[in-house]
This record gives sequence, C-alpha cells and structure tokens, in this order.
Amino acid sequence: LADNKVNIILFGPPGAGKGTQADNIVQNFNLYKVSTGDLLRNEIKNDTKLSNKIKSIIENGSLVPDDIINSLIAKILSDKKFYNRLIFDGYPRNLSQAKNLNLLLKQFNQKVSCVLCLNVDKESVSKRILGRQICSNCGLIFNKYFKLATNKNHTCDPKFLSKRSDDNEKTIKNRFQTYQDMTLPILDFYKNQDLLYQINGMAKIDDIYEEIRGIIASIET
Ligand code: AMP
Repeated sequence: LADNKVNIILFGPPGAGKGTQADNIVQNFNLYKVSTGDLLRNEIKNDTKLSNKIKSIIENGSLVPDDIINSLIAKILSDKKFYNRLIFDGYPRNLSQAKNLNLLLKQFNQKVSCVLCLNVDKESVSKRILGRQICSNCGLIFNKYFKLATNKNHTCDPKFLSKRSDDNEKTIKNRFQTYQDMTLPILDFYKNQDLLYQINGMAKIDDIYEEIRGIIASIET
C-alpha cells in the first residue's frame, strides 16, 4: 500500500461516485474512508435513542444536525490510527461543518490536503442512485447498471446486497435540492484555500480512479 499521508475530501452530488472512489482509494493507499452516511446508518442499526430521529431525516433527504455529525467526526480525528490518513465521503455537507472540520483538524495538528469534486449531471446521478446496491455485510457499493457484484469483486453472499431506503425517486429529489442549497456553497470556501480539483465524474469508474490516484500521488506531504 502506498504510504501517502493526506486528508482528502471527496465532494459531489449524491450518486456522484464518492463512495465507490473512496473504496478504490483504500485498496491502494494506506488511508481510511469516513462516510458520515455509513456512520449514521450504523447508528440506526445500533438502535440508539437517536436512531428514529436520524432515520426520518435521512428518509426525508435533509441534513442530520451538525452537532451529531461533529461529534462523530471529533471521535475519529482524535484517534491516532487515522492521523493524516482520512478520505471524507459525504462530509462536510454545509459551510458550518466545513469550518468546524478546519478547527478540529487544526486542533489535532492536521489539515485538508485537497478537495476532489466529482462533476456529474443530474440525470446520471438519478440513474446511478436508482441502480445502487450496498452490501449490508461488508459495506461495498455496487450498481445494477454500472458495476455488477460478481464473485471476482465481492466475496459475501449476494443475499446481503440491498437497496438503501433513501434511494427512491422522492427522496432523491430532496437530496439533490439539499445538495444545491446547503452543500454546493462550500466549494468556494475550498477554492479560496486553493484546495479544489475538478474531476469529470461522467467518465468510467476506472478512468476516474486513475485521475484521482495521480492527484493523490502528486500531493506533497
Ligand atoms: P450519504 O450516504 O452520504 O448519501 O448520506 C445519506 C444521508 O445521511 C444524507 O441524505 C443525510 O440525510 C445524512 N448525512 C450524511 N452525511 C451527512 C452530513 N455530513 N451532514 C448531515 N447529514 C448527513
């Protein structure tokens, strides 16, 4: 595994391929994926007192409150194992989370190394989201149309493949709106810090990954 020490943000609309590319990155680099969506879905499975609240927000396609997200992230950043080795997938989702991330990273003597923005048009993200399957056992992401689970790329029983409850037409509409209203404004914040890389997210999964790999390898650490 390549030993680059970086903290990367994968940015883009729902269904852009952030999770898929994060999975590709961790296969080749000694880095860890942090998907706040996965952390929240775990929180729901664990049936904590917050579960019902989180569940209904996710199913509505809105954002879970910042304090919940910030404490999930603070826990990770305080762990030495993850020092300068994080790939954020689906976080930060608004300007206040982005500012909080900078504060936390500073506190733990780190910074954001780069922000990789996956650009995909609206029709394509809908199709990707509607075809998405996740493995409830290993967490890997597949797609009925673009990336079938086979016995080469997936070792779990196919019975674990499932659709996310928020991957339906109605929620997708709200998720996209939330992205445009709350998340997209973060881009300027990172552009002003000279951290932004624009990537054509419409290309093939492997070609997108090659571009990402090159960027990560080129970052001075
Ligand atoms: P994702 O798996 O990234 O598509 O996230 C699924 C859902 O989890 C989102 O639609 C939000 O409701 C919630 N969520 C994930 N990450 C965040 C975050 N950083 N801030 C607020 N809500 C989030």
